[in-house]
Amino acid sequence: MERPSIIRKTASDLYAIPNWTDYEKERQQFSWDGARQALQGLPDGGLNMGFEAVDRHANGALRDHIALRFVAHTAAPLELSFAQLQRETNRFANVLQQLGVVKGDHLFVLAGRIPELYISVLGALKNGTVVTPMFSAFGPEPIATRIQLGAGQVLVTTDLLYKRKVKQIREQMPSLRYVLLVAEDGGRTNEPATLDLRQLMDSASDIFSTVSTMPEDPALLHFTSGTTGAPKAAIHVHGAVIAHYATGQYALDLHPQDRYWCTADPGWVTGTSYGIIAPLLHGVTSLIDREEFDAERWYRLLEEERISVWYTAPTAIRMLMKYGATLAQQHGRPALRFIASVGEPLNPEAVWWGKEVLGLPIHDNWWQTETGGIMIANTPAFDIKPGSMGRPVPGIEAMIVERLEHEGELPRVRIIDSPDVDGELALKAGWPSMFRGYLNNEARYQKCFSDGLYLTGDLARRDADGYFWFVGRADDVIKSSGHLIGPFEVENALMEHPAVAEAGVIGKPDPVIGEVVKAFVLLKDGYAGDEILRMDILAHARKRLGAVVAPKEIVFVATMPRTRSGKIMRRLLKARELGLPEGDTSTLEGSA
Ligand code: AMP
Repeated sequence: MERPSIIRKTASDLYAIPNWTDYEKERQQFSWDGARQALQGLPDGGLNMGFEAVDRHANGALRDHIALRFVAHTAAPLELSFAQLQRETNRFANVLQQLGVVKGDHLFVLAGRIPELYISVLGALKNGTVVTPMFSAFGPEPIATRIQLGAGQVLVTTDLLYKRKVKQIREQMPSLRYVLLVAEDGGRTNEPATLDLRQLMDSASDIFSTVSTMPEDPALLHFTSGTTGAPKAAIHVHGAVIAHYATGQYALDLHPQDRYWCTADPGWVTGTSYGIIAPLLHGVTSLIDREEFDAERWYRLLEEERISVWYTAPTAIRMLMKYGATLAQQHGRPALRFIASVGEPLNPEAVWWGKEVLGLPIHDNWWQTETGGIMIANTPAFDIKPGSMGRPVPGIEAMIVERLEHEGELPRVRIIDSPDVDGELALKAGWPSMFRGYLNNEARYQKCFSDGLYLTGDLARRDADGYFWFVGRADDVIKSSGHLIGPFEVENALMEHPAVAEAGVIGKPDPVIGEVVKAFVLLKDGYAGDEILRMDILAHARKRLGAVVAPKEIVFVATMPRTRSGKIMRRLLKARELGLPEGDTSTLEGSA
């Protein structure tokens, strides 16, 4: 279906008075120092992420406002007000103090989305202890690798996860001084060489004075999700909280009366920055669903929980699209006013589907583990061009650059001023949530920068209106007959075909033309992957893209390899295609 290239915002699209409406003016007026004024800070220039998220509200007007609401299949909903969250996080911080766990020590959490995960992350931050939440579905190997790399001193996990995944590898993690267990049945544990967290919490004081941390002190250690290679540990500091606050305001349009749902797990940076910190900073009520994706359940939650702001991922949206409009129409969305998405390119089809089926366009935004917060976004302040990642948020300067050939170790680049040219996306370094290093890998960190610019490793283009368009990860780009082809462009065209639910596109080495474009296609329910359909999809792609860019080969697949954060692992599609080693697959969905 032919649609216009822009979704114009009208008054009826703006259900609440948006936090901002004038993009240029806000960017001109904005400064990071000014943004910091919205936060309280600690004496002598200190700043603490946990304090700003919890105590600032617990000590003020929002003390009895619900901060976190947990829902699960098997348990009754559980709510924690800001005041209760303050008491629980204080207890946890006091437990750490009693154990001699101090500022700068490293704590890992391995748990499903249970209250103790949130309490231990926030409590550790208040204690100045550096935190890493891990995906609870990780198997023993990725757990050991991460704890070894991060020299973790404390692990918070559940009794069942400990027995299944940690006990047998405990010797491989000599840095681990304490394992704190939460019994999944709500009772007590007495596992040798571990401590029972609830028991320790029960006897700990609920009064705690936040440890004095400075903006440059490390707060979080996030492992990159590794769509392209081995995981690296990005160091983030307490000062990142300024960016979490500002982007919660600009890109997610959070208002204190919102009921907000971020579907990401804290094992992925999105689930921490925007699943824990940013909503608390804005004093909103956050829904935390313990369960995995289930289309019917998700629609029910949007309806019954009266979610007003929803932050999710392209995979989830594509899955909902796969289930069709009827299911969506069986449920109301009485409070929903803003939808945002991150993690992968959001196909224009998906943005339109939001508008047409959910009644709201989906606001794509772009960032990475390394950037610590949203950098480029579609926001309430301007029209959406479906397929674009939007424009840089206030405080962020983004540009397109070209890497220059030269002898030295460190990269050299040239800024491309003209619009509509593909190149590498770069950001002017210095925003508060920028990573401050890869743990134990300074050389790799240095290679990310050139002349004060952070080089993202993503290819993109900027149009004349300042909107950025994702082309692909630099490593995923296909070189065919002298053309550079971004897999996203091809995937978008395939997604327009009515039978296609998802597509992953790679370059397959070819002696004549360099690489041929090959597509892996997951069909919607009710379509049979036969030769007629294959030819039809090929014909559609050729019509849309032309013979050079259209895939030469299409194969139908029953599942798409994805990371736990929902990204299609094109690297893995390629390795499997070529019979090469699969490399690090610890973040592959379904692996354990
Ligand atoms: P991670 O650090 O695991 O969150 O992965 C970051 C990478 O995900 C980016 O470098 C992009 O390649 C991709 N990504 C994230 N958001 C988007 C988006 N909105 N559009 C396109 N790619 C995205």
